[in-house]
Amino acid sequence: MPKLDPRNRKVKILATVGPASRDPEMLRRLFKAGVDAFRVNMSHGDQATHAATIAAIRELEKEFDHPIAILADLQGPKLRVGTFKDGKAVIRHSGHFTLDTNPEPGDETRVHLPHPELFGLLEKGQRLLINDGKIRLKVIKADKDAILCSAEVGGVISDRKGVNVPDAEIPIPALTDKDRKDLAFACQQGADWIALSFVQRPEDVAEARKLMTATDGMMPALCAKIEKPSAVRRLSEIVDLSDGIMVARGDLGVELDPEDVPPLQKRIVDMTRQAGKPVIVATQMLESMIESPAPTRAEVSDVANAVYDGADAVMLSAETAAGDWPEETVAIMDRIVAKVEGDESYATRMKTLETKADPTTADALGHACSTISETVSVGAIAVFTFSGSTARRVARERPSVPMLVLTPQRRVARRVALLWGAHAVVTRDIKTFEEMIGKGKRMALRHGFGQAGSKLIVLAGVPFGTPGSTNLLHVVSLSGDELKGR
Ligand code: PGA
Ligand code: MN
Repeated sequence: MPKLDPRNRKVKILATVGPASRDPEMLRRLFKAGVDAFRVNMSHGDQATHAATIAAIRELEKEFDHPIAILADLQGPKLRVGTFKDGKAVIRHSGHFTLDTNPEPGDETRVHLPHPELFGLLEKGQRLLINDGKIRLKVIKADKDAILCSAEVGGVISDRKGVNVPDAEIPIPALTDKDRKDLAFACQQGADWIALSFVQRPEDVAEARKLMTATDGMMPALCAKIEKPSAVRRLSEIVDLSDGIMVARGDLGVELDPEDVPPLQKRIVDMTRQAGKPVIVATQMLESMIESPAPTRAEVSDVANAVYDGADAVMLSAETAAGDWPEETVAIMDRIVAKVEGDESYATRMKTLETKADPTTADALGHACSTISETVSVGAIAVFTFSGSTARRVARERPSVPMLVLTPQRRVARRVALLWGAHAVVTRDIKTFEEMIGKGKRMALRHGFGQAGSKLIVLAGVPFGTPGSTNLLHVVSLSGDELKGR
């Protein structure tokens, strides 16, 4: 079996797959360079292509015997304009432009807006942002079949460009017909995470969860992408209903002002981490590397600062999906993250998070693991988990020693590939306390999480298989002989 260089990092790398990376050999190179989880973006490509990508990732997982998370990102209700006679048109600065219900191709005065729910909803003074906010329109008059706007910032508009409507909560379902089909496909393909785009309300998360189906007896985990002001307003409820959160800075920086994003990033990271759920910081992290083999200083700082903020994972988008330097981008991200984690002040910063409002025994034990590992010399924490919840509790505390996650559930092992510090190994089901301690010791030795004489913290919930039952903490010493005779 080919060996994988041990990941010397706790913060995970999530890389988007696309034309630049979907070739199995490139996926392999990206994985070896440090990718822990791959994002399959349902906004682009067809299901057959995605199925091939997923199969290639699963091959990789088998080849290296290392669980990999696959996150299927649903396009969501992204609004788009219709088409133009010439494929594009120029909207004049301070000129007028109309969006209407007429499906005829548009010109420099008007275009079709194929979203009937927006007519009668938008009001005078509200903004319409086109093409990632490059064109900014303000509503002068909104009728039931036409929205007349003035162009605060004009520019070239072309077929099916995206439209953001930050000032209104749109009564459209969280999932379009395409999303429903893609969700069913992703579940059937065994995606470990589903990411939900343009979440507006907590109900959107609940609705998506209802539509999910189990594979191998387990549902995918659900990640809400925070990219709408309305989601920011109800953040804590959305965090409560989700299994993880993505700070989707691309659309968030269009829907809000870009300078609103950094403080929000910190707030979202803190809140999600406090809930013991993984949080991903996404978009434009090493953007210039789409074309250049070296990042800008600002980008390097951005990746580093997301790590200092406490993120579980950092994401690459077009850099790995469509860029010229996918492998180099992953390698640089890996180096930046490792550097921050090696900085003493990182550990100090990770301790500043307030404890949860209403801590349970399980939370206290997760916290104790971290305290013990700072008090006496410990090689690692071995976490036995069935659903992943015990591992999430330990990860929340950001302990300075490595965390070995032992689970009988392959799907949980994959899911925690996005979780801070989790190094997961699939084990056979264990029944007794003695079996558990024996297995913890052997796995720690085998996977390089300890040697003769080092201590190991074992954390578990008994009876096994009851989520949230974390109630057992045991400190053991490794003799180094545990693997003998095996
Ligand atoms: P997207 O989401 O890449 O699917 O748009 C991320 C973002 O908006 O930042
Ligand atoms: Mn987005």
